[in-house]
Amino acid sequence: MQALELKTKEKVKIRRVYMDYAATTPVALEVLEEMLPYFSERFGNASSIHSFGREARHALEDAREKIAKGINADASEVFFTSGGTESDNLAIKGVALASKKQGKRHIITSKIEHHAVLSPCESLEALGFDITYLPVDEYGLVRPEDLEAAIREDTCLVSIMHANNEIGTIEPIAELAAIAAEHGVLFHTDAVQSVGKIEVDVRKLGVDFLSISSHKIYGPKGIGALYVRKDAFKKIEPIIHGGGHERGLRSGTENVAAAVGFGKAVELAVSELDAERERLTRLRDMLIRGVLEIEDARLNGHPTERLPNNANFCFARIDGEALVLRLDALGIAASTASACSSHDPERREISHVILAIGVPPELARGSLRLTLGRYTTEDDVKYVLEVLPDVITDLRRISAL
Ligand code: PLP
Repeated sequence: MQALELKTKEKVKIRRVYMDYAATTPVALEVLEEMLPYFSERFGNASSIHSFGREARHALEDAREKIAKGINADASEVFFTSGGTESDNLAIKGVALASKKQGKRHIITSKIEHHAVLSPCESLEALGFDITYLPVDEYGLVRPEDLEAAIREDTCLVSIMHANNEIGTIEPIAELAAIAAEHGVLFHTDAVQSVGKIEVDVRKLGVDFLSISSHKIYGPKGIGALYVRKDAFKKIEPIIHGGGHERGLRSGTENVAAAVGFGKAVELAVSELDAERERLTRLRDMLIRGVLEIEDARLNGHPTERLPNNANFCFARIDGEALVLRLDALGIAASTASACSSHDPERREISHVILAIGVPPELARGSLRLTLGRYTTEDDVKYVLEVLPDVITDLRRISAL
């Protein structure tokens, strides 16, 4: 009993370190403050023509401007959605619906996309579309020559993510989008993980569609946006029909409070980008160096072309889920790539991304993603480096037994 009590007391003292910023982020106080009035006194429906409605409309359009500015788009090219998943679905299914009429039924994507891209592609396959899943190299990079070779007469869309959510690899989007454009094929990129971490400029990238999510950048959950290049607006159809909001592309009463928060979050992220990129890169590299001192540890993803806040490893003879649970007990929130929704029970806890970069399944099982953010300190990194080696040793000892 006494031992239990002691343990409980110790637990209270345990440091809490959040290293799962790629999963979600807390709403920044500055963001929350801007949102609050739109839940109460400024509650109007942005479609109403009276003063309450006009006030909401004004806030909504102001948020749209801020988001557009953050990605170097025009405000008329930004369409609010419920988040990254919906933006990806809208881009893929919306273009598929519009292209079907011209007999174009082929889509190209990559093997390492988020399920918000892979699942809509699979659903289109069931409707008679043909999908090419491009392989990636050992770092997770799509090869431009593979894209070039995969394009067909009936290709309507290429969808390749800007930065991978698991291993942090940054894809050569400008080069890939230029190839698609040469062949007259539309290009979508999922920039959910890159916005706020690296420069995202839709003109420089040369994309037609780009997905963003608010909760990855210290904004509220449940809101995102799809950038639709002006000329591409006629080449996409809505997948949600109703009152014709968002110029008919996405019906549903606008979530003004969330949009206001999202706008502020983009503004903040862009203004802090250079300083944060530098700070996080330093912490990330310190973390990577320390973790790679552990026996039989490997870094997943590109050594330099990677997000400043992402570190992803595989540890031989380790079960990733057990590792995450042990770290959690020590106050560290991390993730393994086990959220994979594969229907094959044998592979359920193995990431499709880690497998696609050629890691053998038995090693891929021992993956750990540590993602840093606005509130990560050097002491947090030191704490992880202090406890991780012992946790790995202990887990290996148990598994050997
Ligand atoms: N795309 C990527 C690359 C992501 O990391 C995520 C979220 O994990 C999504 C899409 C889905 O975004 P949301 O959670 O806003 O639906």
